[in-house]
Amino acid sequence: MTNTNEMELHLRGITASPGICIGKAYLVGREGVDVVDKYFISEDNLQNEIKRFKAAVKNAKDNLSEIIEATPEELREHAHILETHKVLYKDKMLYGKTIETITKERVNAEWALKKVVSNVKAMFRNMTDSYLQGRVDDIIHVSGSIMQYLVGAKVVDIAAIDKRVILVAVDLSPAETSQIQLEKIKGFITDHGGKTSHTGIIARSLEIPAVLGLDNATRIIKNDDIIIVDGTAGIVIVNPTEQTLIQFEEQKAGYEEYKAVITRESYIPAETLDGIRLQVLGNIELPEEVVSVIDYGGDGIGLYRTEFQYLSRPDIPTEHELFDKYKDVIEVMAPKPVTIRTLDISADKAVPYATDSTEKNPALGLRGIRYCLQRQDIFKPQLRAILRASVFGNVRIMFPMISCYDEVLHAKRILREAADSLDKEGLDFNKNIKMGIMIETPSAVIMADVMARDVDFFSLGTNDLVQYSLAVDRVNKKVAHLYQPLNPAIIRMIKHVADVAKDKGVDLFMCGEMAGDPVNIPILLGLGIEKLSMNPQSIPVVKNIIKSLDVKNARMFIKKVLKETTDTGVTELVMTTYGNILFETGYTGI
Ligand code: PEP
Ligand code: MG
Repeated sequence: MTNTNEMELHLRGITASPGICIGKAYLVGREGVDVVDKYFISEDNLQNEIKRFKAAVKNAKDNLSEIIEATPEELREHAHILETHKVLYKDKMLYGKTIETITKERVNAEWALKKVVSNVKAMFRNMTDSYLQGRVDDIIHVSGSIMQYLVGAKVVDIAAIDKRVILVAVDLSPAETSQIQLEKIKGFITDHGGKTSHTGIIARSLEIPAVLGLDNATRIIKNDDIIIVDGTAGIVIVNPTEQTLIQFEEQKAGYEEYKAVITRESYIPAETLDGIRLQVLGNIELPEEVVSVIDYGGDGIGLYRTEFQYLSRPDIPTEHELFDKYKDVIEVMAPKPVTIRTLDISADKAVPYATDSTEKNPALGLRGIRYCLQRQDIFKPQLRAILRASVFGNVRIMFPMISCYDEVLHAKRILREAADSLDKEGLDFNKNIKMGIMIETPSAVIMADVMARDVDFFSLGTNDLVQYSLAVDRVNKKVAHLYQPLNPAIIRMIKHVADVAKDKGVDLFMCGEMAGDPVNIPILLGLGIEKLSMNPQSIPVVKNIIKSLDVKNARMFIKKVLKETTDTGVTELVMTTYGNILFETGYTGI
């Protein structure tokens, strides 16, 4: 936090949904919920106390059912997140343990619940996996709503807010976020939460600015304070001066106008000044996000992360359920391509049937393809579902986290078995489906020439490639300064893969976040990467920048880039060479 003058305060958080909004703060309180007294319950009253807890759970659950019922059409797709919460109300770790604590320790229900949730938090404290964190958040949200009924605190009724305001909350559960009425709520900010939380995902679907993870915004901001939320930069300004207000009003108008223009123009193909046509595709997590890819002018889906269908439910989805979801996406997108990545899940992710919290280094553990190769009961139905859905459009299949050649061969073998089983059953599928691998480990980079023998395409997963190559945890704030996609080591690795792909005639994509950051585009173009996949909202700005670049120049430029020895050197070189183009085409800063 920095104090720029007596009144104006700047808070920095995590960007969850881009855009700027300016308005009055509306604190969504949870009075009484955080401060809980402990008292003992007599033996005679224990059953009553348990009944009281069960009644609170029932009320909270009923309230959630009403929210699901009332969820507006445009947010229906997120109802499954709320359905997951319904299941969590009776979760053993929460429900069972709280009743056990009341009984064994003879304490009041509030205290027991608080203790149980603290234990859950402590258990998961050292796990940095963002999915897992998301599941802990889910438990916290669910327990918070039970607590509200236990202590008799006013239940937050976001749907009833009748002023144009910006919500300020310690945390917003997906249930609360999905009640947001767009005509009332301009944006929201929270103390907790991160980019990959469900709340963040819903904010992006609603397309309202949101900054999360501000730590203590609820303590600093008071009701009716004027605040500016810059969701693009992850900044909140409290009590701005007249001058700051004017500056952000202008920035907001500029952003909205710019967004409208580039979104309109995003339907035009991304062709460089010297006539090279690039493919700009979208990454999706939920099948419903396919609409954003189309709206933002994407040339297809370069990464369909399939984990969500497994994470948001207590059991394994069936082949048929998966087939239905894939078919929807493929049909909507056809004839444009859809690259479906097989399950990139692992023991460190909170899937009820795959929970093994004993792994010391989950990022190096049983994840990605390693998990699927061991769990063919899970892998095969997914492969069959993808294959069956492949007849409805243009589908590619992609394996994540490949770290050795054996894995490619093994995965292909299982794919063949899945195809054979469909053949035997007389079920239709595309026999020439394209198959590729993610290049996201240093070993896959080094062995790319060998891997190329057995695949149709590579997709550079720079999120993990940066993590594993630089030995920097991608979600650890303390080492975030070292997480630099423009580190020369990464640029050289990408160059190696691009050269191998060209030499061996293998198609090359990039689907890590690096592909959606405007500042990287001249470099990627210079390295010969012409198929970029990114979060759908970045598509218009990336297309816009591509249209102002020249491949011949970029290829000359890359020679200079490869002489740089530090990431700051590379960034400076990009800015001195391409700064003007980047700013003119909508780049808003590093
Ligand atoms: C990557 O690692 O770059 C990638 C796209 O995969 P994920 O972010 O899902 O790990
Ligand atoms: Mg990855």
